[in-house]
Amino acid sequence: MKKLEDYVRCIPDFPSKGIMFRDITSVIQDPDGLKLAIDSMIEAVRDVDFDVVVGTESRGFIFGMPIAYALGKGFVPCRKKGKLPCETVTASYALEYGTAEIEIHKDAIKPGQKVLLVDDLIATGGTIEACAGLVEELGGEVVKILFLLELAGLKGREKLAKYDVTSLITYE
Ligand code: IMP
Repeated sequence: MKKLEDYVRCIPDFPSKGIMFRDITSVIQDPDGLKLAIDSMIEAVRDVDFDVVVGTESRGFIFGMPIAYALGKGFVPCRKKGKLPCETVTASYALEYGTAEIEIHKDAIKPGQKVLLVDDLIATGGTIEACAGLVEELGGEVVKILFLLELAGLKGREKLAKYDVTSLITYE
């Protein structure tokens, strides 16, 4: 039987020279890979006490939504700036070159709500750290952060030291 990591495809030199891109499209295009990934992520948080899933654009939507659905919770998208129609809170974070901005609707998280953050992958940790900051700005509590993949060499976890972080597959 194939393991989860067997479904992840590695693309050298994408999006730029020297980067080894971990591609999750090969996981989700395979019915067995899709089932294994989603079931494994659900099991990783089944016993966690949380109220709502926040997923980051765009692969955090792919994995966050079915977790929310299966566990009977709501789903809140954390989107790139300019996409959400109502009032938002915004955070900027560093990219390799420049900065990016992400947003959450102000009314999407209620003070005191327990939040599970989901993304496909942690690299430097900048994206999810910014997302966690937005949840906290709205009064939510980040009780768990879940990734399918972790690029441990980039030490993203160091930015998330105060959170409970789980990754199902770790690359050194
Ligand atoms: P970070 O902010 O540096 O942790 O980057 C994480 C974000 O970049 C996630 O939303 C990922 O989807 C994306 N990302 C970075 N590197 C890769 C990769 O090798 N494969 C897939 N997504 C990646």
